Amino acid sequence: MKKILLAIVLVNLQVLAFEYGLTPVKVNESIYCYFGKPEVMNKENNGNMVNSCFVNMGTSWLVIDSGPSYMYAKEALLHVNKIKKMPVKFVINTHIHDDHWLGNGYFASHGATIIGSMLFKKEIHSDETPRMAHRISSEAYANTVPTIPSRFVSKDEDLDIASLHVKLINVDYKAHTNGDLLVYIPKIKTLFVGDLLFNDRLPSLRDGDINGWLKALEMIKTMNTRTLIGGHGDITNKKALDLTYEYLTKLREKVRKALEEEKDISEALESITMKEYEDTALFDVMHKQNVEVAYRMLEWESE
Ligand SMILES: [Zn+2]
Repeated sequence: MKKILLAIVLVNLQVLAFEYGLTPVKVNESIYCYFGKPEVMNKENNGNMVNSCFVNMGTSWLVIDSGPSYMYAKEALLHVNKIKKMPVKFVINTHIHDDHWLGNGYFASHGATIIGSMLFKKEIHSDETPRMAHRISSEAYANTVPTIPSRFVSKDEDLDIASLHVKLINVDYKAHTNGDLLVYIPKIKTLFVGDLLFNDRLPSLRDGDINGWLKALEMIKTMNTRTLIGGHGDITNKKALDLTYEYLTKLREKVRKALEEEKDISEALESITMKEYEDTALFDVMHKQNVEVAYRMLEWESE
């Protein structure tokens, strides 16, 4: 009996002791981020393949994207609290992909208000199990309760938190998804753009619109920014946009040309190889799918 009890205690300790090994990186005077690996989610990275950032608002932390699980969010706050111990008052979700918001439950249970686009209301249903639940280990997923925002954004809004003014920019057309939210902090010229920006791996066009995405990137280029932080990748300077912008621009050109030449989808897939990107992480997983999505989208404008 004692042995069984000991085994139960040990198993529980193991669950409690799960650690991602997160390290906060100082991005500028007010911001610390956790930068994920350039990989798809799996049982080794346990969803640590996404960015999550903490903004020092003076008396509280503002969280931009809460990460892939409860355990991740808990560990992320633990480490930034060693830098400055403050509560999290607000969490902003840049979009509905689950690697970016499954940490919401942890922060909500500690009193934070979660803010996100209206698309959460339309697309995320409480009876559906997120893909993360199957793709990462049960230890990493422990305690995760999918928690959608309690405050929805459907137009540009201002958010005043202590000393810093925050602008929420609602992208009102389909870009990376049909509900992308940008977060701009003018005082420190910092813009969070979620998955409109990937700079360590190939972007995924699956839920997006190539024209809308490029339009949003062009809008971002005109903004007064010093720090640009995306959903994937740790480049935060002026070059942060380059990979996504150049790849999508070339992809659109090539797909339009294939359509002009009346190539069918299989011929387009065959010829649009873009081998210059084959060393970019996730090329094998994403590129053909991106060609197909772009082709299906752009064939409408050529008719
Ligand atoms: Zn995404």
